[in-house]
Amino acid sequence: MIRKVRSHLSQNEGLIFEQSSPGKIGYQLPPLDVPAVDPAEALGAAQVRDGIEGFPEVSEVEVIRHFTRLSTWNYAIDLGMYPLGSCTMKYNPRINEAVARLEGLAWSHPYQPESLSQGAMEVVAHLEDALCEITGLDAITLQPAAGAHGELTGILLVRALLESQGNPRKRILVPDSAHGTNPATAGIAGYGVQNVRSNDQGMIDLEELSRLMDDDVAALMVTNPNTLGVFEENIIRATEIIHAKGGMVYMDGANLNALVGIARPGDFGIDVMHINLHKTFSTPHGGGGPGGGPVAVKKHLEPFLPVPRLKRLSDSLTWDYDVPQSIGKVRAFYGNFGVLVRALAYILAHGGPGLRNATVDAVLNANYIRHKLAPYFDLPYKRPNMHEVVFSDDRQAAKGVRTGDMAKRLIDYGFHPYTVSFPLIVHGALMIEPTETESKQELDLFIDAMISIAKEVEEETEKVTSAPHLTRTTRVDEVTAARKPIVRWKP
Ligand SMILES: *Cc1c(COP(=O)(O)O)cnc(C)c1O
Repeated sequence: MIRKVRSHLSQNEGLIFEQSSPGKIGYQLPPLDVPAVDPAEALGAAQVRDGIEGFPEVSEVEVIRHFTRLSTWNYAIDLGMYPLGSCTMKYNPRINEAVARLEGLAWSHPYQPESLSQGAMEVVAHLEDALCEITGLDAITLQPAAGAHGELTGILLVRALLESQGNPRKRILVPDSAHGTNPATAGIAGYGVQNVRSNDQGMIDLEELSRLMDDDVAALMVTNPNTLGVFEENIIRATEIIHAKGGMVYMDGANLNALVGIARPGDFGIDVMHINLHKTFSTPHGGGGPGGGPVAVKKHLEPFLPVPRLKRLSDSLTWDYDVPQSIGKVRAFYGNFGVLVRALAYILAHGGPGLRNATVDAVLNANYIRHKLAPYFDLPYKRPNMHEVVFSDDRQAAKGVRTGDMAKRLIDYGFHPYTVSFPLIVHGALMIEPTETESKQELDLFIDAMISIAKEVEEETEKVTSAPHLTRTTRVDEVTAARKPIVRWKP
């Protein structure tokens, strides 16, 4: 059942420096039609160099081919599915890229006076309103640049509120299924981290939570649906336990894909949460590009939000810096504006029913995969999942094949690997999130590939443990590659 592997250009590509030969150029300029100026005279001798040592000298076509070939080495969402879980790698409509590049938005400058920035400020105001509506919370800041930055901002808000009440408290409770950024955030915000065990349903153990909650706990940081793809069905009870002792509940909303249009965190007791615009709301995610991690809060946390706050006057918008209890700025200017534009374009293009549909499709797709793969892979939590599903490699491990081996083999089938070995509470996790944008045909190809790999594990184990076979580079020693990287290609 091995399906045909997508073909790529197969040339290996040297460094552009290695393609250089003296005197080659990629341009030809017409003769000067103005008087020549001596650069040393015009700029000062210190500013002028004869040339740049070792600078590659190549023709135009060599430059084009070099970079185009390199671009074909990447796996991309434009080539196929990225089943990474807890990261929501979906195809984002190109139209939102065009909107973000509209001249009036792309060329506006944060130092422009407010009177000339009203349009851009309206974009911010509309997005603030839409995200408050989606989350069911009362106020929001769009400043944080990414998810982890939003988490830190949110926990600093909690700390500021508790401090204003006289005691910032000492600990933050973090379930064992949490994303690694949660305990890191708590630590950087000056709190101790205490783990909360999950029960056999993959949810927070309420008895354990009650036992751990006391007057020293500032907050519970919870992801819902959690990283097992399971909805915390007792979330209201959990928030009551925390609130009863004066703590707050932070929700990691990095992957809001299972909730948008269906359930609102503000309605199930959340005090503060962040959203990853670069996962759920259209900015392409990955490659370290700009992101957006807005933080939405209930009323009681609003006075502490970062400055400036956007304020609507009778006939215009203004930035308000006069917020005495604010934690201050968390980022230059007003956030990654281009990301905010994409998010608003995405939200408006979908509309309420469209956003809800995206959620329903994301959940349906993940459940389809769970159902089709359950006969072949061990499923530690046997219940309907939300936007992602987590299998364990227990069955294959008996043959000496681990999740990482199967992920490498998946590359041979033309797919990006799923998320490997996370969440940590699942032994040898295979974490799969198809997202709403994949068609049934693509899902079936993925499912066929996974089933085929499961059969290979039984019959041709070696093929899986030594994968990948069809890539330019076969399996690398990842530890050495990370510790002693060799970035120079040698023929
Ligand atoms: C991606 C993610 C984060 C961190 O977001 P960044 O933008 O990468 O900082 C936090 N929590 C969860 C659950 C995530 O999936």
